[in-house]
Amino acid sequence: MTITFEKPVQRVSEGAVDAVIAELHKSFGNRCVTSQAVRDQHAHTLTWTAPQPPDAVVYPQNADEVASIVKLCAAHKVPMIPFGVGTSLEGHVNAPQGGISIDTSMMKRVIAVHESDLDVVIEPGITRKELNEHLRSYGLFFPIDPGADATLGGMVATRASGTNAVRYGTMRDNVIALEVVLPNGDLVKTASRARKTSAGYDLTRLFIGSEGTLGVITKITLKLYGLPEAVSAATCTFPSIRAACDATIMTIQTGLPVARIELLDALMVKAINIHSKLSLPEAPMLLLEFHGTEAGVAEQATRFGEIAAEFGGGDFRWATRPEERSKLWQARHDSYWASVALRPGTKGVSTDVCVPISRLADCVEETQADLASTGFIGTIVGHVGDGNFHMLILIDPAKPEEYLGSFKIKKAS
Ligand SMILES: Cc1cc2nc3c(=O)[nH]c(=O)nc-3n(C[C@H](O)[C@H](O)[C@H](O)COP(=O)(O)OP(=O)(O)OC[C@H]3O[C@@H](n4cnc5c(N)ncnc54)[C@H](O)[C@@H]3O)c2cc1C
Repeated sequence: MTITFEKPVQRVSEGAVDAVIAELHKSFGNRCVTSQAVRDQHAHTLTWTAPQPPDAVVYPQNADEVASIVKLCAAHKVPMIPFGVGTSLEGHVNAPQGGISIDTSMMKRVIAVHESDLDVVIEPGITRKELNEHLRSYGLFFPIDPGADATLGGMVATRASGTNAVRYGTMRDNVIALEVVLPNGDLVKTASRARKTSAGYDLTRLFIGSEGTLGVITKITLKLYGLPEAVSAATCTFPSIRAACDATIMTIQTGLPVARIELLDALMVKAINIHSKLSLPEAPMLLLEFHGTEAGVAEQATRFGEIAAEFGGGDFRWATRPEERSKLWQARHDSYWASVALRPGTKGVSTDVCVPISRLADCVEETQADLASTGFIGTIVGHVGDGNFHMLILIDPAKPEEYLGSFKIKKAS
Protein backbone atom coordinates (compact mmCIF):
# COMPACT_ATOMS: atom_id res chain seq x y z
CA MET A 1 0.00 0.00 0.00
CA THR A 2 1.32 3.48 -0.83
CA ILE A 3 0.10 6.63 0.91
CA THR A 4 0.97 9.87 -0.88
CA PHE A 5 0.98 13.23 0.88
CA GLU A 6 1.82 15.76 -1.86
CA LYS A 7 -0.81 18.37 -2.82
CA PRO A 8 -0.78 20.97 -5.62
CA VAL A 9 -0.76 24.57 -4.35
CA GLN A 10 -1.84 27.70 -6.21
CA ARG A 11 -1.51 31.05 -4.44
CA VAL A 12 -4.29 33.61 -4.44
CA SER A 13 -3.71 36.87 -6.38
CA GLU A 14 -1.41 39.32 -4.51
CA GLY A 15 -3.57 42.29 -5.57
CA ALA A 16 -6.69 40.80 -4.01
CA VAL A 17 -4.88 39.99 -0.76
CA ASP A 18 -3.37 43.50 -0.56
CA ALA A 19 -6.82 45.06 -1.07
CA VAL A 20 -8.33 42.92 1.71
CA ILE A 21 -5.49 43.67 4.12
CA ALA A 22 -5.76 47.43 3.44
CA GLU A 23 -9.50 47.32 4.27
CA LEU A 24 -8.90 45.18 7.38
CA HIS A 25 -6.27 47.68 8.63
CA LYS A 26 -8.86 50.46 8.23
CA SER A 27 -11.60 48.61 10.13
CA PHE A 28 -9.60 46.63 12.69
CA GLY A 29 -6.51 48.82 13.26
CA ASN A 30 -3.94 46.88 15.28
CA ARG A 31 -6.30 43.86 15.44
CA CYS A 32 -5.16 43.09 11.88
CA VAL A 33 -1.57 41.83 12.09
CA THR A 34 0.85 41.06 9.26
CA SER A 35 4.08 40.52 11.20
CA GLN A 36 5.95 37.37 10.20
CA ALA A 37 6.05 36.10 13.81
CA VAL A 38 2.28 36.24 14.25
CA ARG A 39 1.61 34.78 10.80
CA ASP A 40 4.02 31.92 11.60
CA GLN A 41 2.18 31.25 14.88
CA HIS A 42 -0.97 30.79 12.83
CA ALA A 43 0.55 28.25 10.48
CA HIS A 44 0.84 24.71 11.56
CA THR A 45 3.40 23.59 14.09
CA LEU A 46 2.18 20.27 15.48
CA THR A 47 2.46 18.15 12.35
CA TRP A 48 4.92 16.86 9.84
CA THR A 49 3.41 19.24 7.23
CA ALA A 50 5.51 22.33 6.50
CA PRO A 51 4.04 25.58 7.94
CA GLN A 52 2.10 27.63 5.36
CA PRO A 53 1.37 30.99 7.03
CA PRO A 54 -1.59 33.20 6.13
CA ASP A 55 -0.97 36.71 4.73
CA ALA A 56 -2.58 38.39 7.75
CA VAL A 57 -4.24 37.52 11.04
CA VAL A 58 -7.35 39.37 12.18
CA TYR A 59 -8.90 39.28 15.66
CA PRO A 60 -12.70 39.89 15.59
CA GLN A 61 -14.56 40.52 18.86
CA ASN A 62 -18.09 39.51 17.85
CA ALA A 63 -20.16 37.83 15.15
CA ASP A 64 -20.81 41.10 13.27
CA GLU A 65 -17.08 41.64 12.91
CA VAL A 66 -16.64 38.06 11.71
CA ALA A 67 -19.37 38.65 9.13
CA SER A 68 -17.65 41.82 7.88
CA ILE A 69 -14.33 39.95 7.42
CA VAL A 70 -16.03 37.09 5.62
CA LYS A 71 -17.93 39.43 3.26
CA LEU A 72 -14.71 41.27 2.44
CA CYS A 73 -12.74 38.07 1.74
CA ALA A 74 -15.63 36.64 -0.29
CA ALA A 75 -15.85 39.81 -2.42
CA HIS A 76 -12.14 39.55 -3.28
CA LYS A 77 -12.06 35.71 -3.48
CA VAL A 78 -9.41 35.56 -0.76
CA PRO A 79 -9.26 32.37 1.36
CA MET A 80 -10.12 32.65 5.06
CA ILE A 81 -9.10 30.19 7.74
CA PRO A 82 -10.88 30.24 11.13
CA PHE A 83 -8.37 29.72 13.96
CA GLY A 84 -8.87 28.48 17.54
CA VAL A 85 -5.52 27.79 19.21
CA GLY A 86 -3.92 25.75 16.43
CA THR A 87 -3.69 22.38 18.19
CA SER A 88 -5.17 20.37 15.33
CA LEU A 89 -2.82 17.69 14.11
CA GLU A 90 -3.35 17.47 10.37
CA GLY A 91 -2.35 20.90 9.07
CA HIS A 92 -5.90 22.28 9.32
CA VAL A 93 -4.89 25.92 9.92
CA ASN A 94 -2.26 26.10 7.20
CA ALA A 95 -2.94 28.60 4.40
CA PRO A 96 -1.61 26.78 1.31
CA GLN A 97 -3.01 29.47 -1.00
CA GLY A 98 -2.39 32.37 1.40
CA GLY A 99 -5.34 34.33 2.82
CA ILE A 100 -6.63 35.64 6.13
CA SER A 101 -6.56 33.77 9.44
CA ILE A 102 -9.62 34.65 11.54
CA ASP A 103 -8.39 34.22 15.13
CA THR A 104 -11.26 33.74 17.62
CA SER A 105 -9.19 34.35 20.79
CA MET A 106 -11.05 37.62 21.50
CA MET A 107 -14.39 35.79 21.45
CA LYS A 108 -14.33 33.95 24.78
CA ARG A 109 -17.54 35.08 26.49
CA VAL A 110 -19.74 32.69 28.43
CA ILE A 111 -23.06 34.16 27.34
CA ALA A 112 -25.40 32.15 29.61
CA VAL A 113 -25.26 29.14 31.92
CA HIS A 114 -28.71 27.51 32.18
CA GLU A 115 -28.19 25.41 35.31
CA SER A 116 -31.66 23.91 35.36
CA ASP A 117 -31.53 22.95 31.69
CA LEU A 118 -27.92 21.70 31.89
CA ASP A 119 -26.69 23.79 28.98
CA VAL A 120 -24.36 26.70 28.31
CA VAL A 121 -24.13 29.27 25.50
CA ILE A 122 -20.59 30.39 24.69
CA GLU A 123 -18.46 32.13 22.10
CA PRO A 124 -16.10 29.86 20.12
CA GLY A 125 -12.72 31.12 21.37
CA ILE A 126 -13.07 29.88 24.95
CA THR A 127 -10.96 26.79 25.65
CA ARG A 128 -12.32 23.66 27.33
CA LYS A 129 -10.23 24.27 30.49
CA GLU A 130 -11.40 27.90 30.70
CA LEU A 131 -15.00 26.76 30.30
CA ASN A 132 -14.68 24.11 33.01
CA GLU A 133 -13.05 26.62 35.35
CA HIS A 134 -16.07 28.87 34.83
CA LEU A 135 -18.54 26.01 35.36
CA ARG A 136 -16.96 24.62 38.53
CA SER A 137 -18.86 26.96 40.88
CA TYR A 138 -22.13 25.70 39.37
CA GLY A 139 -21.18 22.07 40.11
CA LEU A 140 -21.27 21.38 36.35
CA PHE A 141 -18.74 20.43 33.70
CA PHE A 142 -18.29 19.86 29.98
CA PRO A 143 -16.67 16.45 29.58
CA ILE A 144 -15.23 16.28 26.06
CA ASP A 145 -11.46 16.21 26.39
CA PRO A 146 -9.39 15.72 23.25
CA GLY A 147 -6.11 16.08 25.15
CA ALA A 148 -5.14 19.55 24.01
CA ASP A 149 -6.62 22.62 25.70
CA ALA A 150 -8.44 23.38 22.47
CA THR A 151 -11.10 26.04 21.85
CA LEU A 152 -14.70 24.90 21.75
CA GLY A 153 -14.95 26.38 18.22
CA GLY A 154 -12.03 24.22 17.10
CA MET A 155 -13.49 21.19 18.87
CA VAL A 156 -16.85 21.63 17.12
CA ALA A 157 -15.10 22.18 13.79
CA THR A 158 -13.01 19.00 14.16
CA ARG A 159 -15.85 16.97 15.77
CA ALA A 160 -13.43 16.26 18.61
CA SER A 161 -13.74 13.22 20.83
CA GLY A 162 -11.05 11.95 23.17
CA THR A 163 -10.61 10.29 26.51
CA ASN A 164 -14.15 10.72 27.91
CA ALA A 165 -16.04 9.78 24.75
CA VAL A 166 -16.70 6.22 25.92
CA ARG A 167 -19.05 7.61 28.60
CA TYR A 168 -20.16 11.03 27.35
CA GLY A 169 -19.97 10.75 23.56
CA THR A 170 -18.18 13.15 21.20
CA MET A 171 -18.82 16.75 20.13
CA ARG A 172 -21.45 15.33 17.77
CA ASP A 173 -23.50 14.23 20.77
CA ASN A 174 -22.97 17.31 22.94
CA VAL A 175 -23.66 20.33 20.73
CA ILE A 176 -27.26 21.53 20.91
CA ALA A 177 -27.12 24.54 18.57
CA LEU A 178 -24.72 26.74 16.65
CA GLU A 179 -24.61 30.23 15.23
CA VAL A 180 -22.49 30.37 12.08
CA VAL A 181 -21.34 33.04 9.64
CA LEU A 182 -21.72 31.48 6.20
CA PRO A 183 -19.16 32.02 3.42
CA ASN A 184 -21.26 34.92 1.99
CA GLY A 185 -21.38 36.69 5.38
CA ASP A 186 -24.97 35.70 6.31
CA LEU A 187 -25.57 34.61 9.92
CA VAL A 188 -27.51 31.38 10.55
CA LYS A 189 -28.78 29.78 13.75
CA THR A 190 -28.97 26.03 13.31
CA ALA A 191 -31.38 25.19 16.18
CA SER A 192 -32.89 26.40 19.45
CA ARG A 193 -32.00 25.18 22.96
CA ALA A 194 -34.70 22.51 22.79
CA ARG A 195 -33.18 19.04 23.17
CA LYS A 196 -35.30 17.48 20.45
CA THR A 197 -36.69 18.49 17.09
CA SER A 198 -37.78 16.55 14.06
CA ALA A 199 -38.41 19.64 11.95
CA GLY A 200 -36.11 20.36 9.03
CA TYR A 201 -32.54 19.43 8.24
CA ASP A 202 -30.06 18.73 11.02
CA LEU A 203 -27.87 21.73 10.20
CA THR A 204 -26.08 21.57 13.55
CA ARG A 205 -24.50 18.25 12.68
CA LEU A 206 -23.63 19.46 9.18
CA PHE A 207 -21.33 22.08 10.70
CA ILE A 208 -19.86 19.78 13.37
CA GLY A 209 -16.69 18.43 11.75
CA SER A 210 -16.76 20.83 8.81
CA GLU A 211 -13.25 22.11 9.70
CA GLY A 212 -13.96 25.73 8.84
CA THR A 213 -14.99 24.93 5.27
CA LEU A 214 -18.71 25.75 5.60
CA GLY A 215 -18.56 28.84 7.80
CA VAL A 216 -17.17 30.46 10.93
CA ILE A 217 -18.86 29.31 14.16
CA THR A 218 -19.62 32.34 16.33
CA LYS A 219 -21.85 30.92 19.09
CA ILE A 220 -22.20 27.41 20.55
CA THR A 221 -24.83 25.86 22.85
CA LEU A 222 -23.46 22.81 24.66
CA LYS A 223 -24.89 20.12 26.94
CA LEU A 224 -23.51 20.08 30.48
CA TYR A 225 -23.22 17.41 33.17
CA GLY A 226 -23.16 17.45 36.96
CA LEU A 227 -19.69 17.03 38.46
CA PRO A 228 -19.49 13.42 39.67
CA GLU A 229 -19.56 12.90 43.45
CA ALA A 230 -16.59 10.54 43.27
CA VAL A 231 -13.81 10.00 40.71
CA SER A 232 -11.01 7.49 40.81
CA ALA A 233 -8.30 6.59 38.33
CA ALA A 234 -6.19 3.47 37.99
CA THR A 235 -3.53 1.91 35.81
CA CYS A 236 -3.48 -1.80 35.07
CA THR A 237 -0.79 -3.66 33.12
CA PHE A 238 -1.29 -6.66 30.80
CA PRO A 239 0.99 -9.36 29.39
CA SER A 240 0.24 -8.28 25.80
CA ILE A 241 -1.51 -5.57 23.85
CA ARG A 242 -4.09 -8.15 22.75
CA ALA A 243 -4.87 -9.00 26.38
CA ALA A 244 -5.38 -5.29 27.18
CA CYS A 245 -7.69 -4.93 24.14
CA ASP A 246 -9.63 -8.07 25.04
CA ALA A 247 -10.16 -6.79 28.60
CA THR A 248 -11.46 -3.54 27.10
CA ILE A 249 -13.83 -5.38 24.78
CA MET A 250 -15.25 -7.40 27.70
CA THR A 251 -15.58 -4.25 29.84
CA ILE A 252 -17.65 -2.52 27.16
CA GLN A 253 -19.67 -5.61 26.27
CA THR A 254 -20.69 -6.10 29.91
CA GLY A 255 -21.93 -2.51 30.06
CA LEU A 256 -19.53 -1.30 32.76
CA PRO A 257 -19.89 2.53 32.59
CA VAL A 258 -16.17 3.47 32.64
CA ALA A 259 -15.60 7.20 32.10
CA ARG A 260 -12.24 6.68 30.42
CA ILE A 261 -10.36 3.59 29.29
CA GLU A 262 -7.13 4.37 27.49
CA LEU A 263 -4.60 1.96 25.98
CA LEU A 264 -0.87 2.68 26.00
CA ASP A 265 1.66 0.35 24.42
CA ALA A 266 4.90 -0.41 26.27
CA LEU A 267 6.92 2.14 24.26
CA MET A 268 4.35 4.82 25.03
CA VAL A 269 4.57 4.05 28.76
CA LYS A 270 8.37 4.26 28.57
CA ALA A 271 8.09 7.63 26.79
CA ILE A 272 5.75 9.15 29.37
CA ASN A 273 7.87 7.78 32.23
CA ILE A 274 10.85 9.69 30.82
CA HIS A 275 8.90 12.83 29.86
CA SER A 276 6.70 13.14 32.96
CA LYS A 277 9.12 11.60 35.47
CA LEU A 278 6.81 8.71 36.38
CA SER A 279 7.73 5.13 37.22
CA LEU A 280 4.89 3.17 35.63
CA PRO A 281 5.63 -0.49 34.73
CA GLU A 282 6.72 -0.51 31.09
CA ALA A 283 4.19 -2.99 29.71
CA PRO A 284 0.93 -2.65 27.71
CA MET A 285 -1.35 -0.71 29.99
CA LEU A 286 -4.92 0.46 30.45
CA LEU A 287 -5.45 3.79 32.14
CA LEU A 288 -8.95 4.07 33.58
CA GLU A 289 -11.24 6.54 35.26
CA PHE A 290 -14.51 5.80 37.06
CA HIS A 291 -17.20 8.43 37.80
CA GLY A 292 -20.21 8.11 40.09
CA THR A 293 -21.16 7.87 43.74
CA GLU A 294 -18.56 6.56 46.22
CA ALA A 295 -20.27 3.16 46.23
CA GLY A 296 -20.77 3.13 42.45
CA VAL A 297 -17.11 3.90 41.74
CA ALA A 298 -15.97 1.18 44.16
CA GLU A 299 -18.30 -1.34 42.50
CA GLN A 300 -17.14 -0.44 38.99
CA ALA A 301 -13.51 -0.79 40.06
CA THR A 302 -14.14 -4.23 41.57
CA ARG A 303 -15.94 -5.44 38.45
CA PHE A 304 -13.18 -4.12 36.21
CA GLY A 305 -10.56 -5.86 38.40
CA GLU A 306 -12.35 -9.19 37.88
CA ILE A 307 -12.43 -8.69 34.10
CA ALA A 308 -8.76 -7.63 33.98
CA ALA A 309 -7.75 -10.74 35.97
CA GLU A 310 -9.41 -12.98 33.35
CA PHE A 311 -6.98 -11.58 30.76
CA GLY A 312 -3.85 -11.70 32.94
CA GLY A 313 -4.10 -8.05 34.01
CA GLY A 314 -2.59 -7.03 37.31
CA ASP A 315 -0.42 -4.55 39.12
CA PHE A 316 -3.31 -2.15 39.72
CA ARG A 317 -2.18 1.28 40.85
CA TRP A 318 -4.84 3.63 42.18
CA ALA A 319 -4.88 7.42 42.08
CA THR A 320 -7.74 8.74 44.17
CA ARG A 321 -6.35 12.11 45.26
CA PRO A 322 -7.10 14.85 42.69
CA GLU A 323 -3.42 15.84 42.34
CA GLU A 324 -2.35 12.21 41.66
CA ARG A 325 -5.11 11.84 39.08
CA SER A 326 -4.20 15.11 37.41
CA LYS A 327 -0.54 14.05 37.22
CA LEU A 328 -1.47 10.76 35.59
CA TRP A 329 -3.85 12.31 33.07
CA GLN A 330 -1.49 15.21 32.35
CA ALA A 331 1.16 12.61 31.51
CA ARG A 332 -1.32 10.89 29.20
CA HIS A 333 -2.23 14.21 27.58
CA ASP A 334 1.46 15.03 27.08
CA SER A 335 1.94 11.76 25.19
CA TYR A 336 2.49 13.60 21.87
CA TRP A 337 5.48 15.49 23.27
CA ALA A 338 6.70 12.43 25.20
CA SER A 339 6.64 10.43 21.95
CA VAL A 340 8.51 12.94 19.79
CA ALA A 341 11.16 13.24 22.53
CA LEU A 342 11.99 9.55 21.90
CA ARG A 343 13.59 10.60 18.61
CA PRO A 344 14.75 14.19 19.10
CA GLY A 345 14.11 16.56 16.20
CA THR A 346 11.20 14.56 14.84
CA LYS A 347 7.54 15.39 14.22
CA GLY A 348 4.68 12.98 14.70
CA VAL A 349 2.40 11.67 11.94
CA SER A 350 -0.72 10.81 13.89
CA THR A 351 -3.07 8.14 12.60
CA ASP A 352 -6.65 7.98 13.86
CA VAL A 353 -8.43 4.64 13.49
CA CYS A 354 -11.81 3.60 14.82
CA VAL A 355 -13.17 0.07 14.35
CA PRO A 356 -16.12 -1.83 15.80
CA ILE A 357 -15.01 -2.81 19.30
CA SER A 358 -15.01 -6.56 18.51
CA ARG A 359 -12.22 -5.97 15.90
CA LEU A 360 -10.06 -3.77 18.11
CA ALA A 361 -7.43 -6.31 19.19
CA ASP A 362 -6.92 -7.54 15.59
CA CYS A 363 -6.58 -4.00 14.27
CA VAL A 364 -4.04 -2.89 16.88
CA GLU A 365 -1.94 -6.01 16.32
CA GLU A 366 -2.01 -5.62 12.52
CA THR A 367 -1.07 -1.96 12.85
CA GLN A 368 1.93 -2.85 15.00
CA ALA A 369 3.02 -5.39 12.39
CA ASP A 370 2.63 -2.74 9.65
CA LEU A 371 4.80 -0.32 11.61
CA ALA A 372 7.48 -2.94 12.19
CA SER A 373 7.63 -3.54 8.42
CA THR A 374 8.38 0.15 7.73
CA GLY A 375 11.27 0.47 10.17
CA PHE A 376 9.79 3.64 11.71
CA ILE A 377 9.39 4.19 15.44
CA GLY A 378 5.82 4.77 16.60
CA THR A 379 3.83 4.82 19.82
CA ILE A 380 0.22 3.78 20.40
CA VAL A 381 -2.38 5.48 22.55
CA GLY A 382 -6.05 4.71 22.22
CA HIS A 383 -9.48 5.67 23.46
CA VAL A 384 -10.08 1.98 23.18
CA GLY A 385 -13.52 1.90 24.79
CA ASP A 386 -14.76 3.31 21.47
CA GLY A 387 -12.50 1.06 19.37
CA ASN A 388 -10.42 4.18 18.58
CA PHE A 389 -6.63 4.43 18.71
CA HIS A 390 -3.78 6.57 17.40
CA MET A 391 -0.34 5.55 16.26
CA LEU A 392 2.15 8.40 16.31
CA ILE A 393 4.85 7.69 13.73
CA LEU A 394 8.02 9.71 14.29
CA ILE A 395 9.51 11.22 11.16
CA ASP A 396 12.44 13.57 10.64
CA PRO A 397 11.36 16.76 8.81
CA ALA A 398 14.98 17.20 7.67
CA LYS A 399 14.73 13.91 5.71
CA PRO A 400 12.16 14.40 2.93
CA GLU A 401 12.49 10.75 1.97
CA GLU A 402 10.68 9.96 5.25
CA TYR A 403 7.53 11.91 4.42
CA LEU A 404 7.46 13.04 0.78
CA GLY A 405 6.27 10.39 -1.61
CA SER A 406 5.19 7.47 0.42
CA PHE A 407 5.30 5.10 3.33
CA LYS A 408 5.75 1.61 1.98
CA ILE A 409 3.83 -0.89 4.07
CA LYS A 410 4.27 -4.56 3.28
CA LYS A 411 0.85 -6.11 3.70
CA ALA A 412 0.99 -9.53 5.32
CA SER A 413 -2.38 -10.54 3.88
C1 LIG B 1 -1.86 16.07 21.95
C2 LIG B 1 -3.15 16.08 21.19
C3 LIG B 1 -3.99 15.00 21.28
C4 LIG B 1 -5.21 15.00 20.60
N1 LIG B 1 -6.03 13.93 20.73
C5 LIG B 1 -7.25 13.95 20.14
C6 LIG B 1 -8.16 12.89 20.33
O1 LIG B 1 -7.84 11.95 21.02
N2 LIG B 1 -9.37 12.94 19.73
C7 LIG B 1 -9.73 14.01 18.96
O2 LIG B 1 -10.85 14.04 18.46
N3 LIG B 1 -8.87 15.02 18.73
C8 LIG B 1 -7.65 15.00 19.31
N4 LIG B 1 -6.79 16.04 19.10
C9 LIG B 1 -7.17 17.08 18.15
C10 LIG B 1 -8.03 18.12 18.80
O3 LIG B 1 -9.38 17.68 18.78
C11 LIG B 1 -7.95 19.38 17.98
O4 LIG B 1 -6.60 19.79 18.06
C12 LIG B 1 -8.82 20.48 18.51
O5 LIG B 1 -10.16 20.13 18.52
C13 LIG B 1 -8.66 21.72 17.65
O6 LIG B 1 -9.02 22.85 18.41
P1 LIG B 1 -8.23 24.23 18.21
O7 LIG B 1 -8.94 25.25 19.03
O8 LIG B 1 -6.79 24.09 18.45
O9 LIG B 1 -8.54 24.48 16.68
P2 LIG B 1 -7.52 24.84 15.52
O10 LIG B 1 -6.42 23.86 15.44
O11 LIG B 1 -7.15 26.27 15.65
O12 LIG B 1 -8.49 24.65 14.27
C14 LIG B 1 -8.90 23.37 13.91
C15 LIG B 1 -9.87 23.42 12.74
O13 LIG B 1 -11.07 24.03 13.17
C16 LIG B 1 -11.37 25.17 12.41
N5 LIG B 1 -11.95 26.16 13.32
C17 LIG B 1 -11.41 26.63 14.48
N6 LIG B 1 -12.26 27.50 15.05
C18 LIG B 1 -13.36 27.58 14.24
C19 LIG B 1 -14.57 28.33 14.28
N7 LIG B 1 -14.86 29.19 15.26
N8 LIG B 1 -15.45 28.16 13.27
C20 LIG B 1 -15.21 27.29 12.25
N9 LIG B 1 -14.07 26.57 12.16
C21 LIG B 1 -13.16 26.71 13.15
C22 LIG B 1 -10.05 25.61 11.81
O14 LIG B 1 -10.22 26.32 10.61
C23 LIG B 1 -9.38 24.26 11.58
O15 LIG B 1 -9.85 23.67 10.39
C24 LIG B 1 -5.57 16.09 19.78
C25 LIG B 1 -4.71 17.19 19.68
C26 LIG B 1 -3.49 17.19 20.39
C27 LIG B 1 -2.59 18.37 20.27
